[in-house]
Amino acid sequence: KLENATAKQELGRASWKLMHTMMARFPDEPTADDSLALQTYIQLFARLYPCGDCASHFQLLLQEYPPQTSSRNAAAGWACFVHNEVNKRLKKELFDCSKIGDFYDCGCGEDGKDGKG
Ligand code: FAD
Repeated sequence: KLENATAKQELGRASWKLMHTMMARFPDEPTADDSLALQTYIQLFARLYPCGDCASHFQLLLQEYPPQTSSRNAAAGWACFVHNEVNKRLKKELFDCSKIGDFYDCGCGEDGKDGKG
């Protein structure tokens, strides 16, 4: 089957959005179990990402730049950095990671306070 660049880009945008939004909600002071969960998630994400070429490249990036999961800042900064490494390879504009602060808002408000989850 032919490659469909539009679908591949859409998948990429959706995936990055989920990844960065997840980092923005990761605990400031994670437990060892939180950090392990994020490490595992990222490794499985890199293994199972549906675009095989993207997944192979991303696995190499993870080897070179191991996921940082010691805090929200560390995790968000790491994800911004590796996304920029992908941007470089695809010759895209780089994102200013000092501005990542409030950029990714999950829209969930204060979880558990509205009774709807
Ligand atoms: P995207 O890169 O999708 O970014 C979406 C939005 O995120 C941007 O508009 C910007 O607002 C913001 N953003 C940009 N950079 C950052 C950053 N560093 N930190 C935080 N936010 C940022 N495509 C390929 O063709 N080949 C590949 O090998 C490939 N590998 C990929 C690997 C992974 C793990 C993922 C998730 C995607 C990969 N993609 C690959 C898809 C590619 O990265 C883009 O998602 C796709 O090309 C759409 O690009 P875009 O210009 O819309 O912006």
